[in-house]
Amino acid sequence: MSHGSDQLPANLPPSEAQSLAFESSAIHAGQRPDAELGAVMPPIVLSTTFAQLSPGKPRPFEYSRCGNPTRAALETCIATLESGRFGFAYSSGCAAVNNILELLGPNEHLLCCDDVYGGTYRLFEHVFQQRRVSCTYVDYTFPERIEAAITPRTKMVWVESPTNPLLKIYDLGKIAELCKRHGLLLVVDNTFASPALQRPLEFGANIVLHSTTKYLNGNSDVIGGAVVTRDEALAKRIAFLQNALGSVPSPMDCYLVLRGIKTLPLRMREHCRLALELARRLEQTPGVQRVLYPGLPSHPQHALAQRQMPLGGGGIISLELEGGEKGAHAFLMELKLFTLAESLGGIESLAEHPATMTHATVPREQRLAVGITDGLVRLSIGIENLEDLWADLSQALRVVPQLA
Ligand SMILES: *Cc1c(COP(=O)(O)O)cnc(C)c1O
Repeated sequence: MSHGSDQLPANLPPSEAQSLAFESSAIHAGQRPDAELGAVMPPIVLSTTFAQLSPGKPRPFEYSRCGNPTRAALETCIATLESGRFGFAYSSGCAAVNNILELLGPNEHLLCCDDVYGGTYRLFEHVFQQRRVSCTYVDYTFPERIEAAITPRTKMVWVESPTNPLLKIYDLGKIAELCKRHGLLLVVDNTFASPALQRPLEFGANIVLHSTTKYLNGNSDVIGGAVVTRDEALAKRIAFLQNALGSVPSPMDCYLVLRGIKTLPLRMREHCRLALELARRLEQTPGVQRVLYPGLPSHPQHALAQRQMPLGGGGIISLELEGGEKGAHAFLMELKLFTLAESLGGIESLAEHPATMTHATVPREQRLAVGITDGLVRLSIGIENLEDLWADLSQALRVVPQLA
């Protein structure tokens, strides 16, 4: 199937499922009852290889690195939710990032937003830089800075929105228009919003990327990644790279992500509802200097967030606490229902300290320059009870003002 560089991926483009609403697609896209047994849930096909009809005449699948039925169901489902045509699943979000960066050749250049995910930054700076693929970091809040940073070697523009951990919102439509004008490939890491809140291909992005580890799976029990595009030529190259580089997910993991996706619309609605209410309360609480949440009117890009993510501001809140690192540390140690842990997007609430945890690999001066201060705390709001979450946050915040 996808051995050659000029062949389409094994999974078929979504067809009838595309006419369904988002909630229905989340449950049905890429999946239908098994023809023989009528099994309603897609089978987990563990087989690594598939019997061929005659030499060189395979059935739809031949070898599970190239294509696997359970993975194909997941790939079609994610492609449909992102309103794309071709989906690709990976063994991690970082593997998906790596595959997309492999589209670039030596001496080519890309632009990236200045508070990008730490693992993506590490790939740019410590893997691709050595292969002479260079990256310039730009604050996309000012689109004219993007144009100023374009060189004759620039091929790709990398965007996260909302960003991590500052939750800045970038204007995807404006950036897409600019990329089109300059012939640049626009890649959007849509992990923080999920397709339930924002579909970058509809704004003109060429590639959308996910760590399915986060909201898509949503249950904090799988590491995975995904890529979606509408462009057939790009899809052929990505299919080739997916197979050639080989960082594919197991059928078991594909099944778990498919299962997680079925509740994505419900979960996202609840993440947004709880996060907005908690953000409002946090804004009124002593010890909290600043609340960053795209759904709050005080957010610098609130109007843009409402246009781009009309269903809600997402499930992540960042807080600037009084007392710097000491305040953040005391607060995090006092939490009981929130777990002190990296990652985000699961049904359980998590809290972390970017400066010493997720963003510890970013040099301190650079961290401070973009606004990731020592007093910054990031919360991933789960789907527990609102008052339980609030009780935990407010009791932990009681230790903070005393430190200021
Ligand atoms: C977690 C994350 C990644 C990396 O995904 P893994 O599944 O951990 O490899 C990439 N981008 C964003 C925005 C993330 O949050």
